[in-house]
Amino acid sequence: MLVSPVSPAELCPLCSQGFVVPKHSRYGPFYSCSAFPRCTYKRGSGQRRTRS
Ligand SMILES: [Zn+2]
Repeated sequence: MLVSPVSPAELCPLCSQGFVVPKHSRYGPFYSCSAFPRCTYKRGSGQRRTRS
């Protein structure tokens, strides 16, 4: 029986060296690169979707 983790490690699309990890700020959860502060990749939690 295989149970995959809730959030498998996702390679950072910006530096391709760190991993996208969940973080928490006073504004809510977001994702940032594990290589921070060398890499400043950030991504929102998906609460706000922008479409053009
Ligand atoms: Zn990165």
